[in-house]
This record gives sequence, structure tokens and C-alpha cells, in this order.
Amino acid sequence: MSAPNIETIVSLSKRRGFVYPASDIYGGLGSSWDYGPLGVELANNIKKAWWDWVVYERDDIEGLDSSIIQNRNVWKYSGHETTFSDPMVDCRACKSRYREDKLWDEFTGAKEAEGQYILAVGENRLIKFEVPCPTCGKSKEWTDSRPFNLMFRTTIGAVSSDDDPMALAYLRPETAQGIFVNFKNVLDTSRRKLPFGIAQLGKAFRNEVTPGNFIFRTREFEQMEVEYFCRPEDAPRIHQEWIDAYDAWLGTLGISSDNIKHYEQTAAELAHYSDRTVDFLYRFFPEREDEEKQFDELLGIANRTDYDLRVHSKKPEGEDGKRINPDTTEDLSYFDPQTNERFYPYCIEPSIGVNRTLLAVLMDAYEERTNDKGEVRVILRLKPSLAPIKVAVLPLAKNNEGIVTLAKKLKRDLQPSMRTVYDDTGGIGKLYARQDEVGTPFCVTVDHESLEDNAVTVRDRDTWEQERVSIDGLVAYLSSRLS
Ligand code: ATP
Repeated sequence: MSAPNIETIVSLSKRRGFVYPASDIYGGLGSSWDYGPLGVELANNIKKAWWDWVVYERDDIEGLDSSIIQNRNVWKYSGHETTFSDPMVDCRACKSRYREDKLWDEFTGAKEAEGQYILAVGENRLIKFEVPCPTCGKSKEWTDSRPFNLMFRTTIGAVSSDDDPMALAYLRPETAQGIFVNFKNVLDTSRRKLPFGIAQLGKAFRNEVTPGNFIFRTREFEQMEVEYFCRPEDAPRIHQEWIDAYDAWLGTLGISSDNIKHYEQTAAELAHYSDRTVDFLYRFFPEREDEEKQFDELLGIANRTDYDLRVHSKKPEGEDGKRINPDTTEDLSYFDPQTNERFYPYCIEPSIGVNRTLLAVLMDAYEERTNDKGEVRVILRLKPSLAPIKVAVLPLAKNNEGIVTLAKKLKRDLQPSMRTVYDDTGGIGKLYARQDEVGTPFCVTVDHESLEDNAVTVRDRDTWEQERVSIDGLVAYLSSRLS
């Protein structure tokens, strides 16, 4: 079977309640999405898997939940106010707006890297190489590209004008800065020694020039970030360890290594704070002919050096002897009692989006299988730990009071141990198909015999095999098969 494309997942998501277009009854709001009953469970399970892994299973990371809106100085000194922008172009003919670098990548693929498109400084490459507008097809109407800051602006308090600079604030474009400005708080209260990390999970906002591809690129999304602090000389080794650790963790989510590629960012691509960044690309676009273009970013692991702790610190002083940051009250350096040294730790940052992870998990789990009647069935082979529903209890006859009562009792008995639903809204074949399609690992069917032999039929999503299991041992049986 060929891999599903994003459209297949969009349609499954809407049909079964994973993800809906936001504000749909008012015509939607380009690129905003709402997570439905199954989507919120899947997202929560992904977030829990990540938190369990980084905060609980490792012994060297603390959790944090910082504010979305911070003092504006956080974004001034982090560099986001001046440098967090994308190059934007407009088509003069149809007024469509695009991210210039993405348009160029689409047009050239790898050719630029091979040196086939060399430009004089200041030349408008879109015009020169007659890149057609994806909306109207015209090729010579592009404006020059100009930087567009991606931070969402807002104002704080009762202000007379939206332009009041005293009231200006931003919605955070990354969770990371909340970690850096709390570095000393966490260090002092947890009494950690290097190396150690701080993990944060939460919403981030970017006013993307061209959002799209379902939940792949949206203006509001969720990030799972670790800032892992270490001695500068250890940073390259620890960077590599995080790369290997993420390879392994993605495997535990059921994401196949065939669909993952590493990409080393070039010097020109590196963010202003990064010394080295390795992106993990996932095969989000399997339908594209050119294999290179099938892959796009799922996560990035950056060596942010000591950039962030330094810029938020009272020290160091500039060459002219003035404090580089006159607004902060803290020095975020670290004192090593063993070596008696004071220095700014380096920081390795693995940063991954919840939404792109959820999309990759759905794409990798999606399978179509033909049953013995020749009908095509969809099966979501989700890892049991991620499945929104672990067990569905189904009565074989919904008019039989004994069967229904027993089935509802089983639902209640199983619920404390595993997310269980009761469903009697169709014939058994249809109910099985529905649960397969949303990735429920096990169905428990209560039939006439159950009332006599105190046993039920357990059906396996992946093999469609059925087994008779005693009700007394049902929780233990399902628990062991789910883990
Ligand atoms: P891209 O190059 O795709 O714009 P980025 O390199 O700007 O992404 P980072 O700043 O490294 O992204 O953010 C870390 C992670 O946050 C990304 O790998 C991705 O999973 C997620 N992410 C970033 N921007 C978005 C977005 N607009 N929508 C959904 N997820 C996003």
C-alpha cells in the first residue's frame, strides 16, 4: 500500500473527530484547527509520553510552565524583536503573499546548492528566474523581499492606542525564553549541578506568512522543548547524545526510521543563536515525485551556545565598558564549586512540535487492508500508549438487557485502568471497523454465552484475531497486552 498523504489524514480526522477546521461555522480562520474528542486524547498521550520520557525517566531534567506573555525585554534581548522574521514577497498582479525562501525552494529544489543559480547581490531572484506565482501563474510581478516579524503583538492593560509602546507585548514565539529567564530560579530551588535540563511544553504563536498543509504549519501551535545546560566543552558530545536519543524516542511512538532523515543546517540557515542545528525531517509529503521534497521538519536540535544566558545577564560588559543589558537584574552565570570557575553554560535545545508529531504519528499508523469480503478497511496501528481509546466494550445484541447490563458494567470496571468506551450504535462488523479506524487496540464483545460462562471475546485490532477471555482476568489480560 502506498503511504497516505496529508489529505487522507485530513479527511479521516474530520470524519472521526481528531481535528476540525476552527471557526468552521463562520467559514473558518485560515490555518487554525480544533482538536476533537479523539484528537485531544491523542495529543495528550503524546505530551504525556514526552513528559514521562524527559522529566520522569531521566534523572537530570526539571519541568517548568512559564507565561505565554512575558516582559517585552525578554524578546528584545533574546534578539526576536529584530531578527525573528521571514522574507516576504507579494505578487503585484494578484496580491498574493508568500515566503520568499519557501517559494524559491519549491522552484529550485537542490539546484541552488549545486551552484546553478548564482545571483548578484540585491538582484530579485524570483523575477530573474521567472518564478511563477502559485496563485495566478504570472512570473514577473514580484516585489522585492522584505523581512516580516513573526511575533504576534498585543497590548497590556487599558491603553489609549494599540501603538502605545509602553503597553506593547508579544505572544511567545517559542517556549524556550521562559526557560532561560527562569534558569537561576530553577537552579537555586532544585539545587542542580551541570549538566541538567529544564523541560517545557506549551503553546507558541507565530504570524506565519504562508501557513498551510493542515496542522503542519499553523499560527498557533504547541512545542515540547528541553534546554539542556552543560559545560561548553561538553556541548558537542551532548548534542550528539540528544540526536541519538530522539531517534530512539520517535521509534517508541511508532514512527518508522524510513520516514525520518537528518538535515544539518548550513551556516546561512542557522538561527542567530545557534552554533549547529540538526533538523529531523519526516516524510510528510510522500506524494511528491522528488524524494528530497517529500521530507520537511519535524523537530530541530540546536546548540544554542551560551547566547541566551549571556544576553539576559547583567554581564558581560561590552568593549566600551557599558553593560550590554541595562534592563535585567540578574547574572545568569553558573558557579562550579568543584573547579571554582564561573561561566555561562552552553545549552543544547531539542525542540519538537506536538502538532507535527501528531501528524507524523497518524501518517505512520495509517494502513488500508482488504477484508475477506473484498472491502477496504482503514486501520490506525497506533502504539497502545498513544491510542485515544484503549478498549471498546461492545454488546452483541443491544436489545438484550442482560448483555447490555454486563457490557456497561465491564466499561465501568475497566475504566480506572484504561480508557474504555461502550458502543452499541451499530452491528458488530461496523463497530469493529469504526474502532479499527480510530486505532483502538482491543474490542471486548459481550454475547449470549458471556451470561453463562462469565467470559468475553477480545478482538485484536492488528491481527483481527479473537480470543475468549474470562471476565475475572480481563483487567490483567488487557493491561499486560496494552503495555
Ligand atoms: P520551519 O522551518 O518549518 O518554519 P522552524 O525551524 O522555524 O520551522 P523551530 O523554530 O525550530 O521551527 O521550532 C521547533 C519546532 O516547533 C519545529 O520543529 C516544529 O515541530 C514546531 N513548529 C515551528 N513552527 C511551527 C508552525 N508554524 N506550526 C506548527 N509547528 C511548528
